[in-house]
Amino acid sequence: RSKEIKQALEEKLEELGLDEEVKVTMTGCFGLCEAGPIMIVYPEGVFYSKVKVSDVDKIATEHLLKGRIVKELLYKEALVDGEVKSVNEVEFYAKQTRLALRNCGKINPENIDEYIAYDGYKALAKALTEMTPEEIIDQIKTSGLRGRGGGGFPTGLKWEFTYKAKGDQKYVACNADEGDPGAFMDRSILEGDPHAVLEAMAIAGYAVGANTGYIYVRAEYPIAVKRLQIAIEQAHEYGMLGENIFNTGFNFDIELRLGAGAFVCGEETALIESIEGKRGMPRPRPPFPAVKGVWGKPTLLNNVETYANVSQIILNGGEWFSSIGTERSKGTKVFALGGKINNTGLVEIPMGTTLREVVYDIGGGIPNGKKFKAAQTGGPSGGCLTEEYLDTAIDFDNLVSLGSMMGSGGLIVMDEDNCMVDIAHFYLDFTCDESCGKCTPCREGTKRMKEILKKITEGKGELKDLDELEHLAKYIKENSLCGLGQSAPNPVLSTLRHFKEEYLAHVVDKR
Ligand code: SF4
Repeated sequence: RSKEIKQALEEKLEELGLDEEVKVTMTGCFGLCEAGPIMIVYPEGVFYSKVKVSDVDKIATEHLLKGRIVKELLYKEALVDGEVKSVNEVEFYAKQTRLALRNCGKINPENIDEYIAYDGYKALAKALTEMTPEEIIDQIKTSGLRGRGGGGFPTGLKWEFTYKAKGDQKYVACNADEGDPGAFMDRSILEGDPHAVLEAMAIAGYAVGANTGYIYVRAEYPIAVKRLQIAIEQAHEYGMLGENIFNTGFNFDIELRLGAGAFVCGEETALIESIEGKRGMPRPRPPFPAVKGVWGKPTLLNNVETYANVSQIILNGGEWFSSIGTERSKGTKVFALGGKINNTGLVEIPMGTTLREVVYDIGGGIPNGKKFKAAQTGGPSGGCLTEEYLDTAIDFDNLVSLGSMMGSGGLIVMDEDNCMVDIAHFYLDFTCDESCGKCTPCREGTKRMKEILKKITEGKGELKDLDELEHLAKYIKENSLCGLGQSAPNPVLSTLRHFKEEYLAHVVDKR
């Protein structure tokens, strides 16, 4: 629909003789999915939402030609007591800090000039011409940036390990194999700001001593793939990739690898196998990728969102980044808000923001006046946060201490109508399907757990099944080879911990 709207607008502007004066740009995602298609008129930032092709005439003739804002087409919160608020003043955006998403919804991702206009490739120039690899790694360490793919491992340490690893050849890789149900953070960054990832990978390549980068992106993201291809081509044309970048003698190139959509390929060792053209199956660690990664060589592997923060750290300094967030979780985190929430979409918040602020201020609360019941973070590897934790500051460690995890950033809200046993069943069904089958605890254990859960949800469960479920969950967690199996029981354990009464209600007749 957005394409049709753009075409209709361009035709109308031509008819009105405004086509030279008004530039129409197609951007990536604005984040507020619930209000799409969105049209923002700059420089004022007038925010039109749910735009239809039939609205184009009015916006063009009234607003763009005569300067009169079409109030009835504004986003509902952009008009308060008759006063028009700009996009940045609308609560959904006002409470966010957009670092990784800084250019999403702002620039045309298929035009490198627009990226450069917003300081794009300035950090790469600074890194190559003013900094040593050690200084770069130092800044990343100072920043306190932790991996945004799920584990939260300190990024600077990873860079240092790869830098120090012995090897004639090293690689840099990007994990763009986002697979959690309901998560689309990485996809939006790649679709909205692909150069941010390329620039960061080139900086990382210089820092760790690699001249080749791989982006492992799932083929189910065709727009992201297309925009990455365009971005790589343009970066070559402008000399930001290739040989002798900024005349420094540094060579760096990036290749795309398309994943076929197996969830397990988001696990770093499986991803590396898949990059090499093998079946994506995890292998034991150590050795870690920093020592033995792609083609057996030291490899730095970070996810999309982690890379999207890098150029800002280089430009503004590690101290600046570490001034945002909580003591042990610095910077911001992008979440895909979904489920029973009014403002579904993509949000980026400083670490330490409370769940209440995310759900009620940014997310606009629960539809139809229903009561908040829980929020699942970390997707199928995570757990749920209940009402009593609404005022908990969201960061890596707090979520883990509550039996959940940050994960890559899916945040699904549940209301009073959701059955938590069904939710646990849904996630387990997913991980059971996605288990690669290499190790028995995960391959067989998740199947047995699923059978028990099915029995319980069908009302055929007995009290002893709950003990069996918990026992199996703990066993699988402790004995599976990779993160998928180790975290697969989390939704069950978390719902058992917080909503045991719902499980009991399913088996009550059998006691
Ligand atoms: Fe495969 Fe599961 Fe074992 Fe990981 S834990 S290696 S996904 S069977």
